[in-house]
Amino acid sequence: MNKSSMLITNAKLITWEEPNRILDGKALLIKDGLIVEVDSDKDLAANNPDVEQIDAQGQFVMPGNICAHTHFYGAFARGLAIPGSPPKDFPDILRKLWWPLDKSLTMDDVRASAQVMLVDAIRHGTTTLIDHHASPNAISGSLDVIAEEVDASGLRAVMCYEVTDRDGKDKAQAGIEENVRFMKKMRNKRNADGRVAATFGLHASLTLSEATLDNCLEAVPEGTGFHIHVAEHEADEYDSLAKSGLRVVDRLENHGVLGPKTIVAHAVHVDAREVSKLAENGTWVTHQPRSNMNNGVGAAPVESLMRAGIRVCLGTDGFSHTMWEEWKASYLLHKVWHRDPRRMSGVDVARMGVYNNAKLAQQFFPTAPIGVVKPGAFADLIFVDYHPHTVLNEDNLPWHIIFGFQESMITTTIVAGRVLMKDRKLISMDTEAVAASAKQLSKGVWERFQRQF
Ligand SMILES: [Zn+2]
Repeated sequence: MNKSSMLITNAKLITWEEPNRILDGKALLIKDGLIVEVDSDKDLAANNPDVEQIDAQGQFVMPGNICAHTHFYGAFARGLAIPGSPPKDFPDILRKLWWPLDKSLTMDDVRASAQVMLVDAIRHGTTTLIDHHASPNAISGSLDVIAEEVDASGLRAVMCYEVTDRDGKDKAQAGIEENVRFMKKMRNKRNADGRVAATFGLHASLTLSEATLDNCLEAVPEGTGFHIHVAEHEADEYDSLAKSGLRVVDRLENHGVLGPKTIVAHAVHVDAREVSKLAENGTWVTHQPRSNMNNGVGAAPVESLMRAGIRVCLGTDGFSHTMWEEWKASYLLHKVWHRDPRRMSGVDVARMGVYNNAKLAQQFFPTAPIGVVKPGAFADLIFVDYHPHTVLNEDNLPWHIIFGFQESMITTTIVAGRVLMKDRKLISMDTEAVAASAKQLSKGVWERFQRQF
């Protein structure tokens, strides 16, 4: 039996090639983490009698989902009570929820929150995650701790630490050092068979001084990409105008932060000139509709961003790693926001959630095609137990996903040819132990949180 090889048989393939293809009765041969052959069931099985077989039992087999922006550290927010009056706007949410919460995290909590989110991602078929981390009282080494957990989980992830001035100069400097150290480490020694990658994290213009932005740029080699929140709320724009006389995109451009390797999360309140600048310099934008609705910050002008030529991707912002939920939220949000059912077609949602997310992930994992089923591509796959009661084809698939697919239908998750969940049973992680440990730790996190009020 060849252990590094695997044959998936009896699959209904969704390839997500461009154009997409849906193929019945197919088999996939996987070797050393890559898909090496796609052929008919009979032929591949006959030619590879010694290879371990997984029968997909006619389920849909498709590329695993990719999340373009998340926060593992937010795991302990679930069920947390915020003292006093409810936050009245997004800056208030930062002050009353996220900043006291991230200050409450010890290194053990950082590890546990990553574990919780990784279990969630495997269960819901999200195989690549781009994380943005903050733990101001456990900065140094935090990215290593998360990387260890990503490695053990078998998933693929990109990490960074969010540099910010909100906790003073020393912590801003510690954040810079953590990013630089981790980026160098990932460059020198590719972690976890290349499943872990690094970028440079910045919180947002509104918590970054001119000096700190300059320090970040001085600390990294030219051409480094960043991962930063931009114009999530109007406050970011007004703060930038007050600090520099410039809008956020202009300010960040002047500091050399933007470009084809940089990820900008949200871009809800950018103006027309900022949109054209993001398009001109090739910056990626990520859209997180559930988060935007939850924070009451409005809806990013996603269709206009895409029409301008910006590659808009889809993320969760730390919500559960259920990417099809994000598809649905996006599909619905823009219709209600504009009071027009013609807005945000399923094709545009798939453009973000599939093709643009795959192109972004490709930047960090360049050794093989990602987010696609074809020979040579990474074997990052999910099985979906979906039984349509109407015709399903390449043209209407986005609407089947939006109205029919549920993450609970995902039965098997595979990354780089390793089975992480089979028939809904997690293999690479002990879900009960992870939940029990996180539950225990959550008490301490919540106590430390409450003490700050
Ligand atoms: Zn975020």
